[in-house]
Amino acid sequence: MEYETIFRQAQRPKYDCLLFDLDDTLYPRSNGVGSACDQNVKDFLVEKLGIEKSKVDELGFLLYKNYGTSLAGLRAIGYDFNYDEYHSFVHGRLPYENLKPDPVLRNLLLSLPYRKLIFTNADKVHAVKALSRLGLEDCFEGIICFETLNPTTKKITVSDDTDDEPVRMGSSSTSSEIFDIVGHFAQPNPTTELPKTPVICKPSEFAIELALKIANLDPQRTLFFEDSVRNIQAGKRVGLHTVRVGTSQRVQGADYALESIHNLKEAVPELWDSEVKTDVSYPSKLAVETSVTA
Ligand SMILES: [Mg+2]
Repeated sequence: MEYETIFRQAQRPKYDCLLFDLDDTLYPRSNGVGSACDQNVKDFLVEKLGIEKSKVDELGFLLYKNYGTSLAGLRAIGYDFNYDEYHSFVHGRLPYENLKPDPVLRNLLLSLPYRKLIFTNADKVHAVKALSRLGLEDCFEGIICFETLNPTTKKITVSDDTDDEPVRMGSSSTSSEIFDIVGHFAQPNPTTELPKTPVICKPSEFAIELALKIANLDPQRTLFFEDSVRNIQAGKRVGLHTVRVGTSQRVQGADYALESIHNLKEAVPELWDSEVKTDVSYPSKLAVETSVTA
């Protein structure tokens, strides 16, 4: 019996699950969807939040850099708005027609005998729509998205937990309460800390760990595909194996690098090792299925 256990261990595939970012990972940034999204975020700042047009480039950059997403940054510095409205504004006008069915990727994914999940900072509507456009909607067990990590009740929890930060909730925010992040970086004051965000998203290690917990994944047995270097590096810090997608240049924290997700078979051939196909077990039901299934 002991020998059998050891033998089975030796045959065991290296990974249980493949965890994929969506935007700029399962399709290339060159198709214009990503840049259209960036522009929509800027338009949201101007049209919905009344921010001066001349300031949105720098503000958007600082929010993205410091908080992971513009949404997370806007909430941190004191803006309050409906998440669904934000997402429908930012994603609703995207050129989805630029996302074409990708049968090559579809066949690649379907030939991989592992659990496969999407992990995106975007909202569920966008994730489902993009996957559907790509013809990949049935290639994944589920989607871990904005709503998964930020359910509406979570606002209360985060607010309660963050007793040392001026997290602004509800409809009480006014322009006088907005933290001047541009000014903060223009004239750094070591005694002033950046406000924290109530939004949970990559590249926060907490967000990645929460996603792993929700999907019941062991980071040591999960291969994480991402275009964002900082998300890859955060993933590496929590123990994931990592693949940088979008360039063949590896960076610190990336175990593999692929110019395109289409190069997966050449870059990580061991994913198709014959032992994998005979040994891997498939869970019949995913823990997150009810909340995140496409
Ligand atoms: Mg991405």
